[in-house]
Amino acid sequence: MTVTVDKNVEEFTTTARQLFIDGQWVPAASGKTFQTPDPATGETLAHVAEGDAEDIDRAVRAARKAFDDGPWGRITPSERGKIIWRIGDLILEHADELAQLESLDNGKPFAAARAGDIPASADLFHYMAGWATKIEGNTINISAPYLPGANFHTYTLREPVGVVGQIIPWNFPLMMAAWKLGPALTTGNTVVLKPAEQTPLTALRLAELIAEAGVPDGVVNVVTGFGETAGAALAAHDLVDKIAFTGSTEVGRLIVQAATGNLKRVSLELGGKSPNIVFNDASPQAVEGAANAIFFNHGQNCVAGSRLFVQQDRFDEVVEGVARIASSIRLGPGLDEDTEMGPLVSDEQLRRVTGYLESGKNEGATAVSGGGRHGDKGYFVQPTVLTNTRPEMKVVREEIFGPVVVAAPFQSLDEIAAIANDTPYGLGAGIWTQDISKAHALAKKIRAGTVWINCYNVTDAAQPFGGFKQSGWGREMGHEVLEAYTEVKAVTAQL
Ligand code: NAP
Ligand code: MG
Repeated sequence: MTVTVDKNVEEFTTTARQLFIDGQWVPAASGKTFQTPDPATGETLAHVAEGDAEDIDRAVRAARKAFDDGPWGRITPSERGKIIWRIGDLILEHADELAQLESLDNGKPFAAARAGDIPASADLFHYMAGWATKIEGNTINISAPYLPGANFHTYTLREPVGVVGQIIPWNFPLMMAAWKLGPALTTGNTVVLKPAEQTPLTALRLAELIAEAGVPDGVVNVVTGFGETAGAALAAHDLVDKIAFTGSTEVGRLIVQAATGNLKRVSLELGGKSPNIVFNDASPQAVEGAANAIFFNHGQNCVAGSRLFVQQDRFDEVVEGVARIASSIRLGPGLDEDTEMGPLVSDEQLRRVTGYLESGKNEGATAVSGGGRHGDKGYFVQPTVLTNTRPEMKVVREEIFGPVVVAAPFQSLDEIAAIANDTPYGLGAGIWTQDISKAHALAKKIRAGTVWINCYNVTDAAQPFGGFKQSGWGREMGHEVLEAYTEVKAVTAQL
């Protein structure tokens, strides 16, 4: 059975999509468009305006004006919070439609988007809405010993950073837009958002819902286009006060360089090569947990548990179990109700991931399950478990961003922290054991932004998320994210 596509979705994909600038839908200044493919077939799904530097400039100027003069900074925090809450409600009201668009554009199963991405995106706005009324400064008793006898009243204000440029990837398109827009709006900033070229559709639909929720013109602008043109222009623009980026570590470095012109603030959520550690005393659920850690979202997940370490006694059993699950996963188009794993997002990712599989096999790794492309149409890759790897192999060191896990045995608790930390990344980690003190002791030693014990891939609007080392700068979500979108001002009055 195939999910029946909403009329709205059909209309959304059959008419060319435009840019959302200053509350208006406009074509790219160049008149150019590009196509976003359906990854299950490789055929054109929709045509989208190809924004470039000129469109980014228009959008940034609209965001600047909305920040400097617009009503956004004048409405009360309570009103702002209600508008943001309403965005969450509208996402839920249109959940089926958004899940269909996400499935068509990204390839992920409709059911996964409907149960995961869409409600999580709504929840993010609902969570952030509450913070609008709770952004506070302090009063401080200063001493100023060089001014004996003087009295002062000092306080801090926490103010929005200003115009924020946001650049997001294609793996969780709507959710990444929500993670970026929610905190930026609740703290009173204005935004120019550039979605990934592979998956622009749900961000464009979200822009319509944001306008419907009552966000004033110019506060949120969405410019679709390519990274090298639109993205680079946004990162370099002098009227942008902060850039927030999620994507590859490689592009993260380019963002940092582009930001040096006006020294804009930068926050980065980058790649990972996360260790998932199963001890001899782990419960039987660890097998399914290890499979889910890597195969969730087809492995196109920055925190994917892509390095599986199993303590010696359980190694064969756990690896066989994960391989059995991998071989039984049903691959198909995202809108097919039987599908458990869809295609990868693009031809580029298909070539990238199968290239890693070839490199692993050439270097001597064994594919216990999978090991190559699935079928000859669309961008499907077989869920793969690799063993007989060595720590210096490319498949062990680099982020593959596909359904590929490398499994290796380890001996003891004493050695595993160093093995787990032997990576330039530090985004996530998993620990499976029934020994509570061992779990917490190891969690402390792991250099990563998120550590899961007897679970994996659990993220939440209230839980800070981000990376140590080359996995990024700063945190998203939780109250921690409010710092990334505000500046502190100290005000001192002599009494
Ligand atoms: P990417 O190139 O880093 O793209 C992420 C975003 O940055 C996209 O919106 C992209 O636009 C934009 N971008 C690209 N070059 C830019 C530049 N010079 N200046 C400003 N923005 C730029 O990631 P990708 O090509 O989609 O995937 C490549 C690899 O990145 C993956 O295989 C994976 O390893 C990693 N990745 C990580 C995450 C994560 O969540 N941490 C997410 C996605 C990918 P375009 O869409 O037009 O390229
Ligand atoms: Mg790219």
